Amino acid sequence: MVRVRSDLPALVLESHDYGESDKIVTFFCQEIGRLTLFAKGAHRSKKRFTNKLELFSFVQISYSRRSAAGLALLDEAELINSFISLRLDFTRYLAASVIREYMLLVTNETLNDDNIFQLALWALHSLNQAGNRRQVVALFLVKLFDYLGYRPNFSSCQKCGRNPENGDSAVFSTEAGGIVCSRCSPPLGAASGWMTSGAMQMIGAVQQQPVNRLSRFKPAGTVLDQMLDYAYRYSRYLFQRDIHSWKSFVPRSLPR
Ligand SMILES: [Zn+2]
Repeated sequence: MVRVRSDLPALVLESHDYGESDKIVTFFCQEIGRLTLFAKGAHRSKKRFTNKLELFSFVQISYSRRSAAGLALLDEAELINSFISLRLDFTRYLAASVIREYMLLVTNETLNDDNIFQLALWALHSLNQAGNRRQVVALFLVKLFDYLGYRPNFSSCQKCGRNPENGDSAVFSTEAGGIVCSRCSPPLGAASGWMTSGAMQMIGAVQQQPVNRLSRFKPAGTVLDQMLDYAYRYSRYLFQRDIHSWKSFVPRSLPR
């Protein structure tokens, strides 16, 4: 048995029972990305793992590998923050579930982006501290797309190149990867994805800022609705699949 890493910061993304006493746990880890480990005796060994392998928990893990094939073994987990409110408050749980679903969707064993790790940590931390859950999810998603390499253009029309004037609305086009101005778009009502200039400016500003500045942004009202609508539609386009946790999280911004 060879110890691979010790004291590695990690977030619990998934945790399944295996047999009567074991668990299979998927983490998103700083420096190495997604990692699935076998937690032997997780149910029996109260001291070692109890309350440390719950969803959303922020832990430090140590793990070993017996051979190149098969799951590596979780040796120890030390709790840094259990983000307990996310499991006690149902509305926060729903928002954290959206973060978790996107993390499972976009990460893999080769993606070890520290920005994405910090972003997920920021989102869970903010939700745990009673941050506005719709704001946190909207800001998380705008930054997530950015870190994955998708930065749609919200400042100039993707058809004519014109910059919409302050106060002008435009349509966000998933296919064009940016906005299409009111001169180039079909008449209002014929297309979904209309955005006010406030929402476009907010998204453009969030794209420019690092994770540690996200808490300064406080989108509200129509701007927040449109950011969430954009994030949902764009992610469905990018990943070509439904986001199951979204329906319980924010039903009123779902497209009909
Ligand atoms: Zn145009």
